[in-house]
Amino acid sequence: MYLNCLAKTDREKRAYYKSLNILRDRAYQKLAINRIKKAINSEIDAIVDACKKAKTFSEAERNAKSAILSNNDVWKNAIQKTYEDIGLLNGKRVLREIEATTKGIGTNFEDVFLKKLPKHIKKVTAPKLKKLNIRSYAIVSNDIQRAIDDGTSIDDLADYIREYIPATYKNRERAIARTETCEAQGYSGREAALYTGLDMTKSWLAWLDDKTRTGHAEYNGETTLMDEPYIIDGDEMMYPGDSTLGAGAGNLVNCRCTETYKVL
Ligand SMILES: [Zn+2]
Repeated sequence: MYLNCLAKTDREKRAYYKSLNILRDRAYQKLAINRIKKAINSEIDAIVDACKKAKTFSEAERNAKSAILSNNDVWKNAIQKTYEDIGLLNGKRVLREIEATTKGIGTNFEDVFLKKLPKHIKKVTAPKLKKLNIRSYAIVSNDIQRAIDDGTSIDDLADYIREYIPATYKNRERAIARTETCEAQGYSGREAALYTGLDMTKSWLAWLDDKTRTGHAEYNGETTLMDEPYIIDGDEMMYPGDSTLGAGAGNLVNCRCTETYKVL
């Protein structure tokens, strides 16, 4: 494993990306999936329960929408915990790598990171929840309509939804986890780099294969000052995965990019 966020040459950067990708798949993403899975299962339970209580199909749809909204606190917690889990692991890793060449960096990163995190989570979760809710509504409405089309009775609706909804939801689990992993990783890496107090530049690091977005591959190696955003396809982003400056889903969902740093 070659883990070094200060990788300089193209060869070092490729090796770094490969190692980081393994770490992301084997560790970071698993942490995210565990959290996301729980939030999704809790949402499914709430929807099924809502359908059970309904006397008509339109009531079921209304109840299900309220159930989805009432699950938002579970989502908030899942996102916060994902950032805590991945953020501390990844942030400490980035710090260790920078410390290997520059001694004398502070030792209370964990406290600083956890103290700043709630404010960041507050900023990122509102738009995320909005999108998640809209998608959930669409899936539920679709499944209820399908139940009606299949001639399901209102008494059997809850069982029908229980049977059909997990498959549709499951597809989202991975995509959500991957997106959150990228953002939590990007955010914590940046926080760790800033924590050092060193003057640095950052460079976008994309993996160049057929799955990489054209835009992101083009920006591979793009370098800016730490406090300046990258401009990717017209979207401003402080780090790969950054949704706080209004980047669109096209630059966020399933992104696998990361960044490297250079101490000036
Ligand atoms: Zn990317």
